[in-house]
Amino acid sequence: MKDTLKHQGMRNKLADLLVAKGIKDVNVLEAVRAVPRHLFLDSSFEDHAYQDKAFPIDADQTISQPYTVAFQTELLQVKPNDAILEIGTGSGYQTAILLHLKAKVYTIERQQELFKKTKLFFNKMNYRPKKVIFGDGYKGLPENAPFDGIIVTAGAPEVPKALMSQLKVGGRLVIPVGVDDQIMTLYIRKSEKEFEKRELGHFRFVPLVENKN
Ligand code: SAH
Repeated sequence: MKDTLKHQGMRNKLADLLVAKGIKDVNVLEAVRAVPRHLFLDSSFEDHAYQDKAFPIDADQTISQPYTVAFQTELLQVKPNDAILEIGTGSGYQTAILLHLKAKVYTIERQQELFKKTKLFFNKMNYRPKKVIFGDGYKGLPENAPFDGIIVTAGAPEVPKALMSQLKVGGRLVIPVGVDDQIMTLYIRKSEKEFEKRELGHFRFVPLVENKN
């Protein structure tokens, strides 16, 4: 599959729609205009790529809705060279948005099939996350902590303690919390012990699953 002017035009329309829905960060919008979302879906579903909706990928998972990706990314306030941990690599689309913002991205996926497929896709596309890991994101990534930002792209029944502890002071954790539906929650680490918490509306994600072994 290729990226064409037609795709570019559809991306511009999508970005305009995200503006209408309240996304303001120009860097995030520019990333949406740049990253070819249709290449993250199987080619037969190309037509769905630039609609503002989630879509099934392998292993019963979903590529998040573009609005959700933009909303979470805006909350992270990524600066170039920030170390960002992503939990739930999935299709890799959110990863690519973070890379476009020049973050150093560490991403973890617990479904082996998706992990393998997306890792190969990153190589093919020349996307260069710092690490693409097969494992349980509940535990975070202690060996590369602390992070400027942590983004969880699956619905967490509760906030994993490990993720809180792996944030830098000043760092931001963006996590949808809840079981049936989720409240988008932002934690900003104010000091070693203090976190500011903000709740930012309801969303729906596939579940964050803990490996219990
Ligand atoms: N960011 C992805 C969203 C994929 S859906 C995208 O843009 O395509 C959420 C993903 O989180 C799924 O692929 C799911 O397998 C993964 N996931 C769920 N629990 C996890 C865990 N404990 N650790 C790592 N990944 C997890």
